[in-house]
Amino acid sequence: LNRRLAEFGTTIFAEMSALATTTGSINLGQGFPDADGPEEVREAAVRALRDGRGNQYPPGPGVPELRTAIADHQLRRYGLSFDPDTEVLVTAGATEAIAATLLALLEPGDEVIALEPYYDSYAACIAMAGATRVPVTLRPDAEQERFRLDLDELRDAVTDRTRLLLINTPHNPTGTVLTREELTAIAELAVERDLLVVTDEVYEHLVFDEAAHVPPATLPGMRERTVTIGSAGKTFSFTGWKVGWVTGSPGLVSAVRSAKQFLTYVASGPFQHAVAEALALPDSYFDALRADMLAKRDVLAAGLTAAGFEVFRPAGTYFVTADIRPLGPELSRNGDGLAFCRALPELAGVVAIPNAVFYDHREAGAPFVRFAFCKRTEVLTEAAERLRKAFA
Ligand code: PMP
Ligand code: GLN
Repeated sequence: LNRRLAEFGTTIFAEMSALATTTGSINLGQGFPDADGPEEVREAAVRALRDGRGNQYPPGPGVPELRTAIADHQLRRYGLSFDPDTEVLVTAGATEAIAATLLALLEPGDEVIALEPYYDSYAACIAMAGATRVPVTLRPDAEQERFRLDLDELRDAVTDRTRLLLINTPHNPTGTVLTREELTAIAELAVERDLLVVTDEVYEHLVFDEAAHVPPATLPGMRERTVTIGSAGKTFSFTGWKVGWVTGSPGLVSAVRSAKQFLTYVASGPFQHAVAEALALPDSYFDALRADMLAKRDVLAAGLTAAGFEVFRPAGTYFVTADIRPLGPELSRNGDGLAFCRALPELAGVVAIPNAVFYDHREAGAPFVRFAFCKRTEVLTEAAERLRKAFA
């Protein structure tokens, strides 16, 4: 393994899912739903397979039906208008979108500012591009009960080498949804310092309560400097299909496509057709998804609170981050989330993810662990009961 990748080892998701299997624990670690998405969308995939749509290499930028559906979705939801032929690119999940975007836009030595904790593939892709990551830490704010961006820290992180800001809203793993004020400040900074913004919005439909998802591309001066990344995995509960996409200006999208053609070239032919139909589902589908996930969030958050964790109630995503320190020094392994997560299957028969692995400043993330709530309610109730028995 080369020096660029050596520091990354095995992803935490593989490690923790394997632990769940070997210990027979409830897996609230890796984020994937335990119920598949809509029947009609599965049927659409079957029809595509049967009718021979997408069984051979689809077009490089994605099948036209899906590119049009993505453009329609961005217009309908956010008033963002994209030309399906030049401003939309279909990728093998958001994972490839992130990789292709960073490989296409970064020069060796460029600096990328990423909000820490960050999704694990960001660091690896920045490294593969030969660039340097500059983390800006989201800080827990007890009063606001959320992780919050410190705008002064963000401004101070920009140097002459900064090429792009890599953001993620709604944010995995903290559940933070960046506010319009935070995003406006990010946008002003990007315009002032002439930076590109890459925004990972795979949880765009999972926002709760008063929170609203604001795509940075909608803010003044941003459309031409923003690459927006989406995915069908979270919105339609088909994480195995690996259909994602990129929207942006023709120049940026064509650059991303240049990298993408040498990564997978194309992927997921029949599923692209099915996702085109899924994106056209009525608003009631998206509303029901949100309501369902909100109810699950409340079950898990209440269970974690009852077990003694301090919970940061997420405004978005299907993850809740909890502080283990209130469990006490012994049970919390002195607030070491990684040690805690390694012990948790034995202690409680539950698997979680230690947020520390998503930080460069590991100490800043040490006491936080992430639980996924995209699971059937009875599974969440059982997990909550196990945690209460182990800790309360
Ligand atoms: N970005 C974030 C923030 C994610 O949580 C995930 C899924 N774990 C991805 C990207 C990858 O999405 P996909 O499965 O579409 O590749
Ligand atoms: N995005 C999911 C998570 O954060 C799964 C990621 C993965 O398995 N690579 O848990």
